[in-house]
Amino acid sequence: MALSPYRSSLQGGTFRPSAMRLERPLSMGSSTKQSAAAAATVVTPPPRSKSSSSLSQTRRSASATRPSRDESGVAGRVRVAVRLRPRNADELIADADFGDYVELMPELKRLKLRKNNWDSETFQFDEVLTETASQKRVYEVVAKPVVESVLEGYNGTVMAYGQTGTGKTFTLGRLGEEDTADRGIMVRAMEDILADISSEQDAVTVSYLQLYMETVQDLLAPEKDNIPIVEDPKTGDVSLPGVTLYEVRDQRSFVELLQIGEANRFAANTKLNTESSRSHAILLVNVRKTVRPKQERELAALNENVTNLQLSKGHRIPTIRRSKLIIVDLAGSERVDKSGSEGHTLEEAKFINLSLTALGKCINALAENSPHVPIRDSKLTRLLRDSFGGTARTSLIVTIGPSPQHRGETTSTILFGQRAMRVENMMKLREEFDYKSLCRKLETDLDRLVAENERQNQAVLDAEEEMEQKIQEAQQSVTEAEKKLATTLEEMAAERFRFQKEHAETLHKLEQERALREKLEKELKDNAQNLHAQKENASLSKENKTLQHDLEESLKQKKALEHEVKNVKQQLFKLNFEADETRKSRDKEPTRTLIGSDSPLLNSHKPMNMRDSLNGQRASIAKLFEEVGLQKILSLLDSEDMGVRVHAVKVVANLAAEEANQEKIVEAGGMDSLLSLLQTSEDETIQRVAAGAIANLAMNETNQELIMAQGGIRLLARTANQAEDPQTLRMVAGAIANLCGNDKLQGRLREEGGIKALLGMVRSRHPDVLAQIARGLANFAKCESRGVTEGCRKERSLLIDDGALPWIISNANSESSPVRRHIELALCHLAQHEVNAKDLVAAGALWELLRISEECSREDIRNLAKRTLTASPTFQSELRKVHLGHG
Ligand code: ADP
Ligand code: MG
Repeated sequence: MALSPYRSSLQGGTFRPSAMRLERPLSMGSSTKQSAAAAATVVTPPPRSKSSSSLSQTRRSASATRPSRDESGVAGRVRVAVRLRPRNADELIADADFGDYVELMPELKRLKLRKNNWDSETFQFDEVLTETASQKRVYEVVAKPVVESVLEGYNGTVMAYGQTGTGKTFTLGRLGEEDTADRGIMVRAMEDILADISSEQDAVTVSYLQLYMETVQDLLAPEKDNIPIVEDPKTGDVSLPGVTLYEVRDQRSFVELLQIGEANRFAANTKLNTESSRSHAILLVNVRKTVRPKQERELAALNENVTNLQLSKGHRIPTIRRSKLIIVDLAGSERVDKSGSEGHTLEEAKFINLSLTALGKCINALAENSPHVPIRDSKLTRLLRDSFGGTARTSLIVTIGPSPQHRGETTSTILFGQRAMRVENMMKLREEFDYKSLCRKLETDLDRLVAENERQNQAVLDAEEEMEQKIQEAQQSVTEAEKKLATTLEEMAAERFRFQKEHAETLHKLEQERALREKLEKELKDNAQNLHAQKENASLSKENKTLQHDLEESLKQKKALEHEVKNVKQQLFKLNFEADETRKSRDKEPTRTLIGSDSPLLNSHKPMNMRDSLNGQRASIAKLFEEVGLQKILSLLDSEDMGVRVHAVKVVANLAAEEANQEKIVEAGGMDSLLSLLQTSEDETIQRVAAGAIANLAMNETNQELIMAQGGIRLLARTANQAEDPQTLRMVAGAIANLCGNDKLQGRLREEGGIKALLGMVRSRHPDVLAQIARGLANFAKCESRGVTEGCRKERSLLIDDGALPWIISNANSESSPVRRHIELALCHLAQHEVNAKDLVAAGALWELLRISEECSREDIRNLAKRTLTASPTFQSELRKVHLGHG
C-alpha cells in the first residue's frame, strides 16, 4: 500500500502550528480568481434580523465586490448552495400522484417550496443545483473556491447538511471508481491540491475521523476511539493529539485512504450497532506550502514588514503557509426521535444529535449576531469553531430530496441553510516564518563551516610542519655550506702562503741573476773600454790638444763678457736706484705729474733741485747709452731674469723721455719690444713703465702712426681694461690721449676701441687718470672741429657716438682743474659743429656752455664758448625758448 504514515515529531499529531502565525489578508494576486468565484455565488441575501441588518449590510457589500483588506482578515460570508437529489425509483412511484413540492429557479438561484396549491415560499441561495447538476459542476461551484483558498493559505470548510438519503455522501465522498464522472468533492479537492503543490517542498497530510455520541474515533486507526479535542487558549486553534496523519503523495494513495476510512467506519458502526447516518465523518486535510519567491514579492509589496523581517540575503527566512481543509459529511439532519424506529431512548437520541443541535444553535446565534455563541456545547462545534464565525472560508451544501413526504425535514434543512448564509467569517492567512527550516539551514551551514574550518586548521598545521621541516633543512644546508667555506678558506690560505714563499724565492733568485749579469756587463764594458782606449790613444792625443786650447780661449772670452754684463747690470741698478730716488723726491710734489700736459716727461716748470737730479740722471743715462749701447739695453728687455727686465724697461722709459733718444729707440726696435712687453708681461710694474715709455714715444707724430700700425691701440685698450693701478692707467690714458691728438688717426683710433678704452678708465676715480682722459677727449674733439672747419668732416662727433657725452657733462664742472679745463675745451670744440648741437642740448651741454661763457677762468675758452653759442642756430633757438637768447 502506498501510504506513508506520518506523525509530526514536534507537534505530537496536532494541527496546531507551533511557530509564530501571521494572519494577513488574502493576497491581491489571487483576488481576481477570488472575486470571480465570489461573484458566481453572490445572491441577494435572505431577510435579516433587524438587530444585525446594518452590520451585515456593510459586510455583504464588501464581500460582494472584492475581499476587503483590514488588519485581521478578509470578510467572507458562509456560502450556501442547495442540491436537489433526483427522484429514486420508489419516489417516482410514490410521488406520482403529487405535484412537485420543490421548485427550482437555478438562473435566479432561488428555490420555491410549495406549501399547498395556493401558497409557496421562495428562498434565495448562493447556488441552486438541480437534480441534473453534474458532480463536476457541484464541485466547482461549492468546493473549488474553498480549495483554492486553502492553497492560498486560508483555512477552508466544505460541509454537507441534509436529511439522510438526500445525497451528502454522494456529493462529498463518492470515489467514482466505476464512473469517473461520479467523483465527489473529497476526491476532486485532493486532485486540485496535489496538482498545485510541490512534491519536494510542500506536504499534504490527511486524517479521517468519525464523531459519534460525542466521541472522536480515528477512521485510519480505529483502535484510537477516543481522541481528545484540544484548543489553544491563545490562538483558538484546535488540535487532536494522537490522531493519525497520513502524508498523501498521490491521488491513488488518497483514494485508498478513503476506502480504508469507509471500511473502518462500516466495521465500527457494525460493532457499535450504530448507523453511519448518525455519525459525522470528518476529513482533515493539512496543507503545508512553502511560499515561492514570486509570491513573496507580491507579499512584500503588500506588507513591508515581511522584507524588514528578512535576515541577510544568504539566510532569507522561508515563509510557509499552513492551512487546513475540513470536509464534513454530517449526520442526517432528521430528528432521531421522530420515528423511534431505531430503538434509542430519548436521552440517547438527544446525545446522538447533540453535536448537530449545537451546530444549529451556534449558527442561529451567529446569524443573529448574538453575543454568546455556544461553541463549547459539542465536540462538533468545537472542531468547527473556525468554520463558522471563524477565520475559514466555508461552503455549505444543503441536500434535499424531492419527496413531499419529507416536507418538514426539507423545510427545516432549507431554513438551516438560510441561517447559515448569514454567518460572516473573517478569513485569515495562515502564514508563518519557517524558523525551523531556517534553523536547519543555518545548522547545516554551520556544520559545513565548522568542517571547513577544521580542514583549514589542519591545512595550516600541515603547512607549518612543512615549513618547519624546510627551515631545518635550510639551516642544515647553511651549516654545511659554512663548514665547506671554512675548509676552502683554510685551503686557500695555505695555497697563498705557498705562493708567497715561492714568489719570494723567485725574486731572490732573480736578484742574484741580475747582480750576476750587471757584474758581467761591467766586466765586458771595462774590457771594451780598455781595448778602445788602447786603440785610439795614439791618434787622439794630438787633436785633443788643439781642442783644449780653443776651449780655454772660449772660456776666457766668456768670462770677459760675463764681467762686462755684470758691470752693465751694476750700472743699470745704480741708474734705476737713482731714478727711483729722483721719482720719490718728485712724487712728494703732488701738483706735478710725470706725464702731464702735452709733453709728459719734459716739464720745464720742475723745481731746481729736481731738475738737477734729472739732469744728473740723464747724464748718467747718456753715459750708459754710450758705454753699453742701446741695442744691448733693449736686448735686456727679453731677459729671463725678471729683475733685469724691470730695470731695463725703466732705463728705456727714461731714455724715451728724452726727445733726442726717441728716434734712436724706435730705430733700434724699441717700440716693438715695449709693445710686446705690454702684451706679454703680467707684471704690473713692467706694464706701468712700458706704458709710460710708449706714452712718451707717442708724443711724436711718426711714432703715433707706428704705434697704430703695430696694433698698439688694441694693446693699450686691453691694458686699460685690465689694469687696476692708477699709475698704470694714467700712463695708458696719457698714451691714448696723445694718439687722440693726431688728425690722421682719428677714425682708426676710434675703430680699434681707443675712445671706449679711454672712457672705460673713468672707473678709476683718480684725478690724474681723469685728467688724462679729459685731455684725450679734448684732443679728439679739437681734431674733429678742425676737420669740420676744413670741410672734410660732416658727421656727428664720434665721441658722441661712443657715448662720451654723459661723462663729459657730468665732469664739466669738476673740482679738479685740469679735468675741468680739458672738458671745457672739449665741449667748446664739440659745440662748434652744428651737427652735434642737438645731442649736446639733449645732454644738458647748453647750460655748461653758458656757464663756461660766463665763468671760465681762461679768457680764450670763455670767448670760444660765447662765439659758439651765438653761431649755433640750435643753441640760439633753445635759448630763445627760455628767453636767454645771445646776440
Ligand atoms: P445520505 O448520505 O445523505 O444519506 P446518500 O448519498 O447515501 O445519502 O444517497 C442516498 C442514495 O441516493 C444513494 O443511493 C445515492 O446513490 C443516491 N443519490 C443521492 N444523490 C444522488 C444524485 N444527485 N443523483 C443520483 N443518485 C443520488
Ligand atoms: Mg451518508
